[in-house]
Amino acid sequence: MNEPGLVVARYRRHGLVEGSEGSRVLCQIKSRSLNPVVGDQVRWRLEADGKGIITVLLSRKSALMRIDNQGNPETVAANLSQLVVVLAPSPVPDWFLLDRYLGAAALAQLKSVVVFNKLDLAESPPDELADYRDLTDRICMTSAKQGEGLRELTACIADERSAMIGQSGVGKSSLINALLGDARQAVDDLSKKSDQGRHTTTTAVLFGLPEGGELIDSPGVRDFAPYIADSREVALAFKEIDRHSGDCRFDDCRHLAEPDCAVKAAVASGDITARRYESFKNLLELTESLQQNRR
Ligand code: GDP
Ligand code: ZN
Repeated sequence: MNEPGLVVARYRRHGLVEGSEGSRVLCQIKSRSLNPVVGDQVRWRLEADGKGIITVLLSRKSALMRIDNQGNPETVAANLSQLVVVLAPSPVPDWFLLDRYLGAAALAQLKSVVVFNKLDLAESPPDELADYRDLTDRICMTSAKQGEGLRELTACIADERSAMIGQSGVGKSSLINALLGDARQAVDDLSKKSDQGRHTTTTAVLFGLPEGGELIDSPGVRDFAPYIADSREVALAFKEIDRHSGDCRFDDCRHLAEPDCAVKAAVASGDITARRYESFKNLLELTESLQQNRR
């Protein structure tokens, strides 16, 4: 009786669920212990009063996790295959934030794409971007305004379920509008209708793309840091640090002051950039301080 569905938007007490025939129904969530997020597979049913209810949360293939200010894990989206991180010449890129986004993708075993948008405003892409060639699956250069690079971006996301993330003002909404074309309006109208004015649409929303694939718009993820339960796993968030860490003398090397640390040797030789190493230490510090908060 309970049919399978996909959560395409999550509000405080409700989830918007897409059923098997593609219609979207606003559903209550049966219990507080159930916490479906965008991308979740659920079971749901229509109640006698015509309202929907989510009754079961099915297991997740992947989960993008962030840490909240209290040091607790928070699931941003589920069952993603890819994270798309958008940067632009303005606002000025926060490279440490980019590292934390890419770290979250690595920890959730997601592919990643870095989009440098507002290409029309840049004389040349920033030097730092070149450091990311080996650290991400693709780098796309776009201008949502002039339409440049959109075909390439469309191809990057066509067979994936991606979440788009980035500092406010980099052009995420503009890119999504450009990628969705007329489909955007239809989704917004539907979302408003099912909201019946009672819900804000500031949460993550999943869109089906006309060229295939799905894109999750996840606004409001400022000050993002990945959730890492054990601070020894911070190195897993940095691909090149993780790669070198197998050669450290001690298995439990923290890559700080230990002798014969292969990571520090790679920093000294320039194989790992000083900035990425700094970024690793920042995330380690943050993770450890939030862990202490939690106790
Ligand atoms: P969001 O906060 O990431 O969703 O960013 P928006 O899509 O709202 O864009 C922020 C501002 O940047 C708006 O004024 C857009 O018109 C502008 N913008 C977005 N993409 C481009 C671009 O490719 N070139 C230029 N010049 N401006 C852009
Ligand atoms: Zn080490």
